[in-house]
Amino acid sequence: MAEILTPDICVIGAGSGGLSVAAAAAAFGVPVVLIEQGRMGGDCLNYGCVPSKALLAAAKHAVASRRVPPFGITQQRAEIDFAKVHAHVHGVIAAIAPNDSRERFAGLGVQVIEGAARFTDSRTVAVGDKFEIKARRFVIATGSSPAIPPIPGLAETPYLTNETVFDLKQCPEHLIIIGAGAVGLELAQAHRRLGAKVTVLEAAVPLAADDPECTAIVLEHLAREGVVIRSGVKVTRIGHTDGGIAAVIETSQGEETIEGSNLLIATGRRANVTRLELEKAGIKYDGAGISVGRGLKTTNSRVYAIGDVAGGHFTHAANEHAGIVIRNALFRLRARVNEDLIPRATFTEPELAHVGLTEVQARRRHKEIRVLRWPYHDNDRAQAERATEGHIKVVTAKNGRILGATIVGNQAGELITTWTLALSRGLNIRAMTGIVVPYPTLSEIGKRAAIGYFTPSLNNPRLRRLINFLRRFG
Ligand SMILES: Cc1cc2nc3c(=O)[nH]c(=O)nc-3n(C[C@H](O)[C@H](O)[C@H](O)COP(=O)(O)OP(=O)(O)OC[C@H]3O[C@@H](n4cnc5c(N)ncnc54)[C@H](O)[C@@H]3O)c2cc1C
Repeated sequence: MAEILTPDICVIGAGSGGLSVAAAAAAFGVPVVLIEQGRMGGDCLNYGCVPSKALLAAAKHAVASRRVPPFGITQQRAEIDFAKVHAHVHGVIAAIAPNDSRERFAGLGVQVIEGAARFTDSRTVAVGDKFEIKARRFVIATGSSPAIPPIPGLAETPYLTNETVFDLKQCPEHLIIIGAGAVGLELAQAHRRLGAKVTVLEAAVPLAADDPECTAIVLEHLAREGVVIRSGVKVTRIGHTDGGIAAVIETSQGEETIEGSNLLIATGRRANVTRLELEKAGIKYDGAGISVGRGLKTTNSRVYAIGDVAGGHFTHAANEHAGIVIRNALFRLRARVNEDLIPRATFTEPELAHVGLTEVQARRRHKEIRVLRWPYHDNDRAQAERATEGHIKVVTAKNGRILGATIVGNQAGELITTWTLALSRGLNIRAMTGIVVPYPTLSEIGKRAAIGYFTPSLNNPRLRRLINFLRRFG
């Protein structure tokens, strides 16, 4: 006989989104059940953000000797012990893991159940034959898994995904990566810097969602470091070679075979819906995940879906979704998601970060826009740090209302936050000219771009006449 539980909220999935909902609900004293079939912390902690950023951090140190000579410093070329890099990556995961652990959540008053959840009807979730949960509200936060493309030969060939690549204790000799999105390119740069030859194969355009003027700077940098990126090529077959793999690609010049030691698939994500038996609860979904409204309710009014399974792509999106569900489910508010206010960052070097509308999107939605830029090259701090690659690009409406910002360059992921705040408060670009920014900091690039909005008016004859008139008064 299954034990029947009747919490207020039942959360399925203990990744970024699910943990945030469970922690917040428990903090308000609400009875919560949290179900997790795998590792607490989900993708972000175990197979995503955390290990990838830890690997990139190691990779940055691996190439430090290249960047120090202009500072008057010489350094021996780095020796890389990949097994120790592996230990570093897993050490970082272990350091963060207690925050997401069963013990911590049990301590917060959350009942954590191990196992796979599935709906049995519109009001009930079962975990094996041990538990039946009849909650007031359910939150599906089951995340996503690597989408595996149907390439002939792939199923018979050993390949890596984000779930296995961080287990490598030996650096691949030649890593072939299929997919040039953020995940593919971050891992490409990390492995290249740690000693691998890297080839990235992309059927369309790398970093397709981002502004091409800014992505070009990332791609040029990666090419200079020796990452080979082949865009507009279709992988038609995967096969074995002695000790490696062969990817057959179709290019405009015909077929070509690329041989490598390891293959990594980074061709996007697939929502984790199959084990949930959503049909039994009347919850609609499609290839992009579970269908939700802006309040994150599914087609079953008792059930919300958040994070990757509801079309999110980032940990901070899952956290934002969690906050919205808490407001809606606990306080019956009408909180809504605004996708335009969710920033994104690619943590290559140079970093690429964006919030709001890109120039192309802004031109589609607005009759007239202004595009403002400022290069890192003209920033004193960037010069001092000898990191002058990149620029900020800000898009405003004709009246100066900020519509979006993209930053490519050092610390872009940090610098975008100011623009996210500006957008979320509906600020006009004038506000960005009025703030005092410490000198010398990279933040000045934003202020300088903002001042550019007023450059045309410097030549305004009426303004010049007014200044001349006022000068007469001493
Ligand atoms: C390599 C890589 C790097 C990334 N880097 C970044 C980054 O730098 N910044 C960023 O913001 N985002 C990054 N992401 C994306 C980020 O990891 C995800 O957006 C985030 O983890 C989504 O959180 P979630 O709660 O929706 O799902 P997840 O974190 O995936 O959690 C879902 C959980 O649900 C569990 N589950 C699934 N089905 C069931 C079931 N039926 N029953 C019980 N449990 C179930 C799973 O086991 C999992 O633990 C990266 C992703 C990858 C792959």
